[in-house]
Amino acid sequence: MLSETRNGEIKINDVTKRFGETAAVSDLNLTIPDKSYCCLLGPSGCGKTTILRMIAGHETPTTGEIRIGGDAVTGLSPVQRGTAMMFQSYALFPHRSVLDNVAFSLKLRGASKDDRHRQARNLLTKVRMERFADRLPAQLSSGQQQRVALARALITNPRVLLLDEPLSALDEYLRLRMRGELRRVQKDLGITFIHVTHTQLEAIAVADLVVVMAQGRIEQAASAREIFTAPRNAYVARFMGGQNVLAGTVESVVDGQAIVAGDDGARLSIAVDKERLVKGSRLVGSIRRDRVSVRKAEGGATPPNEANALLGEVHAIEYQGSHVRLRLNGRLAGSSSPTSSTRTSFATRWISAIGYSRVGRRAMFSSSRACMMGERHP
Ligand code: ATP
Repeated sequence: MLSETRNGEIKINDVTKRFGETAAVSDLNLTIPDKSYCCLLGPSGCGKTTILRMIAGHETPTTGEIRIGGDAVTGLSPVQRGTAMMFQSYALFPHRSVLDNVAFSLKLRGASKDDRHRQARNLLTKVRMERFADRLPAQLSSGQQQRVALARALITNPRVLLLDEPLSALDEYLRLRMRGELRRVQKDLGITFIHVTHTQLEAIAVADLVVVMAQGRIEQAASAREIFTAPRNAYVARFMGGQNVLAGTVESVVDGQAIVAGDDGARLSIAVDKERLVKGSRLVGSIRRDRVSVRKAEGGATPPNEANALLGEVHAIEYQGSHVRLRLNGRLAGSSSPTSSTRTSFATRWISAIGYSRVGRRAMFSSSRACMMGERHP
C-alpha cells in the first residue's frame, strides 16, 4: 500500500511495454509534476493508451518502473495507487440515476447511503449537474453524460485522474466548452490530470505539459508554448502544424546567429545560442506560419539579400481563414550569400503564411524569426 500522501507526481523510469513482438512503448522516461494537467498527444497506435493503462495498473511494464508520489506502484491495484480512469464511452449504468451512477464506487466500498449521496451531490455540484441528479443517463445530452462520467471518476478522491480521449464523443462546439470545464475542475480539485488525445489544439488549450509521441517514443515533452514555438524536430513541427520546416547547410555562425543556405534557395538566420555548429553542418529549422508574411513582388523585384526571405512564383493557393498555403513551383529566385544572388532550381513546396497572393503571381515571403530544431546530419 502507498504512503498516505496526496502527491500525484508521476515518474516513468526507463519503461518499455511489449505485446509479443510489438513494442507499444520503448525506453520511456517522463516526469509529470503533481497537480499538473498533462496531455499525451500523438497519432493512432503511438502508445498513449498503453501509458495510461500502465499508470492505472491495468497493464504492467515489461521493463522499467512507474512511481506515483515517489512510491513504486508495480503490483498495486488502481485503488491502492490512488488513480481513477474516465473512459471515452463514459460507461454509465443505463438503469441507475445520475446520483447512483456517481455514488456507485462508494457503495462498493461500503459507504452508507447518506454518506455516498452527500458526496455524490457535492461532485455533481462541482460539474454543474446537481439539477439532473434524478435523471437516467438516456435522458441526458452527451455533454451532460460526460460531466456525470467525470463526477463518477472523481468520487473515489483520486490523486491522479486518467482520461482516455474524454472529448472524442462530443461535437465540435461541446468539445470546446468541455475542455475548459475539465481544466476548471482540475484546477479546482488540485489533482493531476493525464489526458490522452490525438487532437493538437485540444492538448495545447488545456495542458501544462504536452507530451508529443510517435511510435512508442516521446519526441518532445514541454509546455504548449514551447512545443509550438520551438518544436524539437521536424516530426513535432509537422505534427503540431503551423510551421514551415526548412533544411539547409550552415555557412557561418556569427554572434549566436547561424546563416544557413536553405535547400530551396532561402537564406535563413537562426539563433543557435546553445549549439556548437560548424560550417557545412546540415540543419533543420522551422518558421511559424504566423511569422511569415507574403506580399506581391513588383515586376522588377530582385531576389532578396535579407535573411529568411524567399521570392517565388505561386502555383496554387489554399485559403485557410487565418492564413494561406501557397505552393511554389519551378525556378525560385533566392540568395545564397549576403553579397551574391543566385537563381536556384526548386522543387514544388508549400509555404504557409499570412497575407494574400494569386496563382501565377510572383510573391515575396519574409519572416523576422526562424527557429532551430535539434536535428542535424553533419
Ligand atoms: P489510439 O489513439 O488509436 O487509441 P494509442 O496511441 O493509444 O492509439 P495504444 O493503444 O497504446 O496506442 O497501442 C500502441 C501499440 O500497441 C499499437 O501498435 C497496438 O496495436 C499495440 N497494442 C496495444 N494493446 C495491445 C494488446 N493488448 N495486444 C497486442 N498489441 C497491443
